Amino acid sequence: MPNPVPAKRIFLSPPHMSGGELSYIQEAFDTNWIAPLGPNVDAFERELAEQVGVRGAAAVSSGTAALHLALKLLGVGPGDTVFCSSFTFIASANPIQYEGATPVFIDSEPDSWNMSPAALARALWDADRLGRLPKAVIVVNLYGQSAKMLELKALCDRYGVPIIEDAAESLGSTYEGKPSGTFGHFGVYSFNGNKIITTSGGGMLVSDDTVALERARFLATQARDPAPHYQHSTVGYNYRMSNVLAGIGRAQLEVLEERVRARRLIFATYASELEDLPGISFMPELAEGRSNRWLTVMTVNAQESGVSVASLLRSLAEQNIEARPVWKPLHLQPLFLEAAYYSHAPGESFCEKLFAEGICLPSGSSLTEEEQARVISCVREQMKRGIAVSA
Ligand SMILES: *Cc1c(COP(=O)(O)O)cnc(C)c1O
Repeated sequence: MPNPVPAKRIFLSPPHMSGGELSYIQEAFDTNWIAPLGPNVDAFERELAEQVGVRGAAAVSSGTAALHLALKLLGVGPGDTVFCSSFTFIASANPIQYEGATPVFIDSEPDSWNMSPAALARALWDADRLGRLPKAVIVVNLYGQSAKMLELKALCDRYGVPIIEDAAESLGSTYEGKPSGTFGHFGVYSFNGNKIITTSGGGMLVSDDTVALERARFLATQARDPAPHYQHSTVGYNYRMSNVLAGIGRAQLEVLEERVRARRLIFATYASELEDLPGISFMPELAEGRSNRWLTVMTVNAQESGVSVASLLRSLAEQNIEARPVWKPLHLQPLFLEAAYYSHAPGESFCEKLFAEGICLPSGSSLTEEEQARVISCVREQMKRGIAVSA
């Protein structure tokens, strides 16, 4: 007999409000600052910059907008090349397309699941030989874990290529004791509803280059020249964050460290309850880093476990549990069939293996112990059945 389906759905990574948000929103209402820009925006920028230790931050409408502005500021345009991690969400690379530039995708490596320094080295070597160095390298810190930033940065510095760090998923994480998102020339955070903290939708561009950030704010408000009569001499965007949403962000930022601890605890519980199962492994953590464990990701080897990712996802869905496959690598996307790709080792694509075996488990910081136990028992039962089948 199949188990009755529990009524309450367990989501992958739902928003988790602290309760402090309403007072900032109330203040915005009381002062009638219901606009893009306003005191909450200024304060949110200042507070986030201080928290991650950069000179400045520009609050925008999404992480994607922040990435787009970073490319604009580095002068990316038609005919240029931009390197980008392949194992990531499409938003990392869409802005390359907005600018008519050409992406080249770089594989992940096994220790961090993020950009492979070996693959990047080969790609830079080839590009340099052809006199076509990229205008930028977008390094993604996936599922909360920092990439091997020091190695990647040393490579990029050797060729004078700036890094844009897509830290949309890694706010609150560190690498070598330094906040994730602060290693590149620009860093990008996202406050989309599923991220570790949220403004319902929003993003932040951070940098020590305060001149560039001023330019970002200019471009994000329709690029209005300093004249009273609405004069424009360059293409602009409507990309600024609303003062109401920035209020939500300020309250969320206050609980960031709590959220990191909660997600790390959720990861630790999954790992200790499931690691003994044959064919199951969890995303590793670099010794020199501390991941915010935005999502707990595990791999399921179908041969060793007797269970496929698809069947496991199906069982979880039947129990009203939202789990997901990992991001489909961008070099495999129909959108990017023409794009060049550098694998970790020649003939050995690591992120394709992750794509075949990876699964994201419910990881929201508001997940209760009881809900987590439901996920764990569902996975264990499916595995037991799998082992019985394959034995
Ligand atoms: C969420 C996300 C983005 C985009 O952020 P939005 O705020 O949704 O535009 C970019 N890159 C990665 C890796 C993400 O997970």
